[in-house]
Amino acid sequence: MQAHAVKAFMSGDPVWVSPDASALEAFEQMIDRGIRHLPVLDRERRVVGVLSIDDLRAALPFSMTLRQPLSPGERETAREWRVGEIMSHDPETLGPEASISEAAERMAERRIGCLPIVDEERRLAGLLSETDVLWAIATAGRLPRDSAETARKRELESLVRELERERERIRTRLAQRQRAEASLEAVMRDEPMDQAERGADTTIVQEAVALDELAVRRLAALDAALDRAAQGHLGECTSCGASIPVARLRAMPGTTVCVACARTARR
Ligand SMILES: [Zn+2]
Repeated sequence: MQAHAVKAFMSGDPVWVSPDASALEAFEQMIDRGIRHLPVLDRERRVVGVLSIDDLRAALPFSMTLRQPLSPGERETAREWRVGEIMSHDPETLGPEASISEAAERMAERRIGCLPIVDEERRLAGLLSETDVLWAIATAGRLPRDSAETARKRELESLVRELERERERIRTRLAQRQRAEASLEAVMRDEPMDQAERGADTTIVQEAVALDELAVRRLAALDAALDRAAQGHLGECTSCGASIPVARLRAMPGTTVCVACARTARR
């Protein structure tokens, strides 16, 4: 279990910068250490942002790579920018006890290259990079089978809660829409509109109907997924028995097959 937590794979004492540091200082830190991300900490060592080489590239009006020093003119420009102006604010973070699979999922979903690991006060405890996650995966074969199963079970449980909340939101919204529609019909019966008015109104109604249809379809998928969860079969491929990744279940809750089997079926 311990080996599965992010704290076993993170770098424990990462370099960081303050929001008041200049872009130049940050860039030089990156060059010195050969790193692409810097956590940004306030005076209390709380994580307030993350600065990546991509953020620097996006903000500064010249190209920068970790292989090449800046020209004197570029150094001047970079000195004028504060890290706080160009960092990503309020970045995604995780606690040291979070599982590697949760970290990997967040990084993939949000397309981020590193996750600050923080304590309850949001103080920096370490930094988890893509490479750290790859290491964790590379050594996963050595983990006892039991802990992988437990992690999967936990992931599925949290997915079920997420799907239940989504189902509730959609149901509430559809019910509101139905009430609004009913009262609109009543108004139209009482005060007939001219042709133009009716035309504009019909378009709005048609758009709403199309959205409702999507919502109804999503609702059916959520029902199917939650039924399968209740029977203890959520995430099992009905064709080959493999585990369907949680990210796939989240995108297509109604699916009952893994990607490989879906591909074979399409051929
Ligand atoms: Zn399959």
